[in-house]
Amino acid sequence: MKLSKRMDTLGTSITLKAAHKARVLIAEGKDVMNLTVGEPDFPTPKNIQTAAISAIETGKASYYTATPGIPQLRQAIENRLKLIYGLDMKDENIVVTDGAKFALYTLFQVIIDPEDEVLIPVPYWVSYSEQVKVAGGVPVFVQPSTEDLKVTVDDLEAMRSNKTVAVIINSPSNPSGAVYSYEELKAIGEWAVEKNVLIISDDIYGRLVYNGNNFTPIATISDEIYKNTVIINGVSKAYSMTGWRIGFAAGNKEIIQQMIKLCSQSTSNPTAVSQFAAVEAFNGSQDCVEVMRQAYEDRLNEIFPIVKEIPGFKLQKPHGAFYLFPDISEALEKTGMQNATEFVDKLLSEELVAIVTGAGFGMDKHVRLSYATDIETLKTACKRMTDFIQRHSKSK
Ligand code: PMP
Ligand code: GLU
Repeated sequence: MKLSKRMDTLGTSITLKAAHKARVLIAEGKDVMNLTVGEPDFPTPKNIQTAAISAIETGKASYYTATPGIPQLRQAIENRLKLIYGLDMKDENIVVTDGAKFALYTLFQVIIDPEDEVLIPVPYWVSYSEQVKVAGGVPVFVQPSTEDLKVTVDDLEAMRSNKTVAVIINSPSNPSGAVYSYEELKAIGEWAVEKNVLIISDDIYGRLVYNGNNFTPIATISDEIYKNTVIINGVSKAYSMTGWRIGFAAGNKEIIQQMIKLCSQSTSNPTAVSQFAAVEAFNGSQDCVEVMRQAYEDRLNEIFPIVKEIPGFKLQKPHGAFYLFPDISEALEKTGMQNATEFVDKLLSEELVAIVTGAGFGMDKHVRLSYATDIETLKTACKRMTDFIQRHSKSK
């Protein structure tokens, strides 16, 4: 069978692979503590479900929609961007996509020529590098220089070349949970404008920040930065709507129009019923967002001190998203294991605790734990991880 060479270099999403493995074991009746996939564990709020049912029953959801999304949804996104970001966007600046993931995919296809480079701060969400590669580009990884795993202008500048076309900023970060401050983003934004590097601002966790910390969208810092930024966002994380697959890109008209052209040849439109649901998510009561945010904050505050006590785990308290990303170098040393992937595989088979190796996020001495699950599961997982490390340390 003839297959394209592009596929040789593409890896399967390690987050989805880890989540699938855990689900298969759970379906077999195994008592797995599943801290793999990053998705809210709440059902989609009732008002959003009702809007979707009504769209089906009235026949509105039966047909293709406009490629960039139904007018009501683009209007709702414009209103949200005005309210949360203070930005005045028009329809021509917005394309609704099948999840934020496909917004990113389409964006890379539109801006990358062969060998163009995209700066990706480490640790990074698994799909950035793979999507850049599929578009024919080169992911250039930028190591963080701060303790809480953030990059500075110096870090970025050290890796910039005359082939650099874009930089990805993901704050709050998946997997580290780090949140960039206004000052940090201002410096990065001004640098990007000066060097003519497009900012891709993945704001998908923007509404999930904790303990009094603030989310600054980089596009709001100045007019120059705004003009040089494409915002990526969606409904998955804030509204517990991962399965509905609605995201969007917002920014420069030329870029967005090219994205719409590509979507017209790939997906035609995002699923109609999901678009009607997303209109209600954006326009309806926002109380559900705060209820879920508070629940993650409570879990973070309860589980963080427990994870910190796991032998050989080191981490700073994150300020956003719903992940912990401990450095497990010492645990690896204690247990004689080579890297996080070996640790994660053995942990799953011996203790039935499912977590994600840091390897796919660019750090193979780290692991990612999602705390978008109930506190009992989290506590049991921590207890099993502690037992696992102690048992392997003794037998060394
Ligand atoms: N960006 C980041 C950082 C993510 O963690 C995710 C999670 N899936 C996405 C984008 C894509 O979100 P979705 O496609 O579900 O909208
Ligand atoms: N973004 C989530 C995660 O990192 C969902 C899975 C994915 O699309 O990678 O686990």
